[in-house]
Amino acid sequence: MIKSILLDLDGTVYHGTKPVAGASRFVQQLKQNGLDCLFVTNRANRSAPTVCRILGEMGIECEVENLLTSAQATARHLSPGKFYYIGEEPLCQALVEGGHIPSEDNPDYVIVGYDPFVTYQKLEKATLFLRAGAKFIGTNPDKVLFTEYGIIPGNGAILAALTVASEVEPTIIGKPERVIIDIALQQLNISPQEALLVGDNIETDVRAGHNAGVPTALILTGVSSREDLAQSTLQPDWVVENFEELEELVFSP
Ligand SMILES: [Mg+2]
Repeated sequence: MIKSILLDLDGTVYHGTKPVAGASRFVQQLKQNGLDCLFVTNRANRSAPTVCRILGEMGIECEVENLLTSAQATARHLSPGKFYYIGEEPLCQALVEGGHIPSEDNPDYVIVGYDPFVTYQKLEKATLFLRAGAKFIGTNPDKVLFTEYGIIPGNGAILAALTVASEVEPTIIGKPERVIIDIALQQLNISPQEALLVGDNIETDVRAGHNAGVPTALILTGVSSREDLAQSTLQPDWVVENFEELEELVFSP
């Protein structure tokens, strides 16, 4: 029996600043039916309160406990240590809140999240720390970001630069790896079979569910299309066109 929905954000619940039709009602209905909703996002560059406020402005109910970012998952996954990071301020904040200490003195970890202000100097420091033995952690592996003005480098592109320079492969926390999903299940205190992961991307969301043993529903509101699905060896448990069909799937007896 499904107890909780793990819901992706970008391309599933909203596009940029626009909510996806039916998302708000779906989240409301989950609450009314006693199901938990946990938004699970690979984004590490927005704090949980910021994401909640953005969702609220779109009419989608969200408390901070309904949200798991890859920055928070990273903070919870790692044992306490000193870290050097490439990323935006919310990544550092989540790590500090999780008990880790920012440091450029022999750090235990080099933690890399999406950073639109990445510089050669930051890559240089990270490479030196990695070559000195720091553990290499990527909040998420997304190679590119889809914007209104085209496709641009994502965190995966920064990770690739460091992998080449350091000859170390990163441990990835975000989807499609199972780490973030395992942490979500722990947070909700449920087994994989009691969750349903809903997302718009076969290669990240469906694969993450598959890796963690969580049933998945692909919603065709974002990145992946029926064509992609036909070509993919990986298949979700369900495919829904929109939130209307998702409601039927989740709430019809
Ligand atoms: Mg998505």
